[in-house]
Amino acid sequence: MEPDDALGDELGNLALDFLHTVRRTRHGVEDLLATPSNLLAWLDQHRDVGPTRGLVGRVSVPDARTLLDEARRLRADIGALVEASATGQPVPGLPLYGLNRVLTATRWSWRLAPVPSGGAVLEAHGEDTHALEALGPIALAAAHLVTSVDASRLRRCASPPCGTWFLDTSKGGRRRWCSMARCGNREKAATHRGKRRTS
Ligand SMILES: [Zn+2]
Repeated sequence: MEPDDALGDELGNLALDFLHTVRRTRHGVEDLLATPSNLLAWLDQHRDVGPTRGLVGRVSVPDARTLLDEARRLRADIGALVEASATGQPVPGLPLYGLNRVLTATRWSWRLAPVPSGGAVLEAHGEDTHALEALGPIALAAAHLVTSVDASRLRRCASPPCGTWFLDTSKGGRRRWCSMARCGNREKAATHRGKRRTS
């Protein structure tokens, strides 16, 4: 994985980071979740985002294969829900069903745990019942996107062919790219080259 796929991807929401595991590049579509171990590594990398601590790392090998199918399905459902939300369309039925399937599979208890550096973090403790539970935090983040986020702040990266969805949490609300390092600098360099050609 590229370094910018680690934590701090800056997309503003765990479900959007998850959506970004499939991406358009100039070489075509790239899927970071090619194998079960890719998925487990991704979940492990993102377990400290929001209430996901303590939920991953307990998935057995056969479960991981099923989980990968489920994860890809969930990812497609999240894509459809985000698109509908951003464009003001009615919530599509099948993706909603898919998301709810994951949400209802999670049986968590919650605990607020103090952080040594100050403050506290919300921790979820899952019953060890269903591998699908490992996807629960992603589904929860997607539900938050659809229910509690200003849809005008849900945007696609302006750099073709990227088109990655991100949540604009900037003060002015004029963010254009999924990541400055990934797309912003490339676009700026292209604009600069264009200016030099015309001058
Ligand atoms: Zn981008």
